[in-house]
Amino acid sequence: MAPEFTNSVLVFCGDDCVIFDAWGRADDWMRLLKSRGLNLKAIYSTHGHPDHIVAAPDLVFATGARWFLNSADFGLLGWGNEILQEFGLKPITPGIVPDALVVDKIEILPNVFVDVISMPGHSMGSVAFYFANMGLCLVGDSIFSDSVGRTDLPGGDMHLLQQSISRFYSLNLPDYTTVIPGHGDITTIQNLKETNPWFKLG
Ligand SMILES: [Zn+2]
Repeated sequence: MAPEFTNSVLVFCGDDCVIFDAWGRADDWMRLLKSRGLNLKAIYSTHGHPDHIVAAPDLVFATGARWFLNSADFGLLGWGNEILQEFGLKPITPGIVPDALVVDKIEILPNVFVDVISMPGHSMGSVAFYFANMGLCLVGDSIFSDSVGRTDLPGGDMHLLQQSISRFYSLNLPDYTTVIPGHGDITTIQNLKETNPWFKLG
């Protein structure tokens, strides 16, 4: 987490959509979905920190969408609600248990495939979502444009984070790939190689 808003991403295909890292208020999301005529099918979280899941339970209640989170982060659910207060957000609605995210190639919408990449370190269950066809990767709080995620929160481990970044680097994603971190500026694989001192092989 960083002391700023979270980058949420909405992906749609026809009238169906999914949300990655549902930040903010569920009623704002519902207004957006309604204005665009979109049906929410699922919510995916890069990890279980509250600023990446805050709207998910209420959206599940409102739409019946499924919510996926790596089960290694289920233990974080319910932690850190006070952080949300700083943003004027209410505590996370309890009672909704996410489905376990499969760390593999998954089909998020008909014929839209995403590779789920395990990235433990910022939290034990952190993942990245790679859209090969779109040249897009959502990296959560593992990597930022000019730094990496903090490891002092529950589930954090700097050694694991370094290993994850090294493994991610060695995937050799194309330089043009757009990289959207969980907070802050959008970047590319090329920019990370050129300007992020942490983005390299171990
Ligand atoms: Zn986080």
